[in-house]
Amino acid sequence: MPDPTTVYNPRTGLPRGAVPPGHPDHAAAEAGAAAPAWAEATPRQRAEALHALAHTVRTQAHRFIRAEVESTGRPLDHAHLEVAAAADVLDFYAGAARTATAPAAGTWIDGHTSVVRWEPLGVVAAILPWNYPLMIAAWRAAPALAAGNAVILKPAPETPDTAHLLAVAAAGHGVPLVCCPGGADTGAALVAHPLVAGVAFTGSLTAGTAVAVAAAGRPVSLELGGNSAALVTDDPPAGWAADLAAACVYNAGQSCAAPARVLLPASRAAAFTDLLIEEMTSRVAGLDFGPLISARQAARYDTLVRDATVTGKVDVADTETGYWRPASVTVVEPNNPAHRALVHAETFGPNLTVQTYPDGHYDTAIHLANGVPQALAGSVWTRSLDLAHRLAPRLRGGETWVNCHLVQTPELPHSGRGDSGTGVDLSTEAVGWCRRPHTITTRLGA
Ligand code: NAD
Repeated sequence: MPDPTTVYNPRTGLPRGAVPPGHPDHAAAEAGAAAPAWAEATPRQRAEALHALAHTVRTQAHRFIRAEVESTGRPLDHAHLEVAAAADVLDFYAGAARTATAPAAGTWIDGHTSVVRWEPLGVVAAILPWNYPLMIAAWRAAPALAAGNAVILKPAPETPDTAHLLAVAAAGHGVPLVCCPGGADTGAALVAHPLVAGVAFTGSLTAGTAVAVAAAGRPVSLELGGNSAALVTDDPPAGWAADLAAACVYNAGQSCAAPARVLLPASRAAAFTDLLIEEMTSRVAGLDFGPLISARQAARYDTLVRDATVTGKVDVADTETGYWRPASVTVVEPNNPAHRALVHAETFGPNLTVQTYPDGHYDTAIHLANGVPQALAGSVWTRSLDLAHRLAPRLRGGETWVNCHLVQTPELPHSGRGDSGTGVDLSTEAVGWCRRPHTITTRLGA
């Protein structure tokens, strides 16, 4: 049996406990045993169990919130929002379990009648990141459960807490959700397990690529990193800089769709950059947002933003010696290799880069926005409805906001392109990858 994984408090950097790794064979056997009955349950029965699980998450919110704060270090009110969002996702997919799926039954061939049954894959492994441990668990597990699959959650080693609580709550409602904590080895063992019929992976490109190769032909949904552009025109709405700064530092910048690269029109660049710097540096680590998740992430972030132009403040108690990083802005000098590297990487921290484009040259702005390997999300900031509608579809990615950023709801899909992956999260679209059509055609008059 491998050693327990030490988990740390990101606010102090000190160990807060040790979590024994789960056993992939046991987890797969448990999920596999529960899968047939769950697959045979009616959509209404699955919906009732998922609604009951959402209700338990709400009534036990204090436990989930405490675990989320301890594992991620995020502020209490942000943990509140995450727990509420996770419960809402469970409720949404309880409803989605009962929606009809095309193509319809009917006579499509003379003298025959056909029905298409939608069958779950069986057991789905959901391999999770640490940035929103409970919410991404809900994003990945709920649609797979709604489709009739049993699910094994493999939380990130940094944040195993709330996945465990969710699995315990699920067991109380007959929802086949098993938690198997551990690191990359545990994830790899689950992906390779013969009982695992599909994999939902959310995380880095490197690990996602390894998972896709190891899954070897089984359905895989990949949600990978982002590096969102915010294209600001010369006529953005009031408050645009404050809104962008707030979205950037939320969760200390550790959101896959966080704004990272701001594109400004040259004639307004000086004034707009000053405004952004003011808004970013007025947001203080420790007061407005939490620490980075781990020493590893902090070291990676420090390498990337080592040449920031302006850096804000950290305000924490002496006892909080953890992975705190201030908000910062980097005005990109095109010949500075550190700046070029920063623009091309997913920063995953409270930093915004600033680049300029010639006024009115939106082709150049779009070229800059789309000139990175990731393509997950982005935003356009303008008071012109015409410009908004012309520019938004040209940003490469699955989600573009106009005059806002990071606004999401379970009804609307979230998906990547390029290095950001192939999967779809949220919306009824997220149910599709983990079920398969089974067409039954009957000859009439036999
Ligand atoms: P990571 O890739 O290091 O780890 C993700 C998970 O994969 C962990 O549970 C890890 O233990 C597991 N893992 C690692 N190697 C594995 C392997 N070979 N086989 C099986 N499992 C393996 O990512 P992370 O640092 O935990 O998460 C941050 C990343 O997640 C960022 O890139 C972020 O953008 C991305 N993310 C994307 C979305 C999205 O919707 N696109 C949402 C949240 C986070």
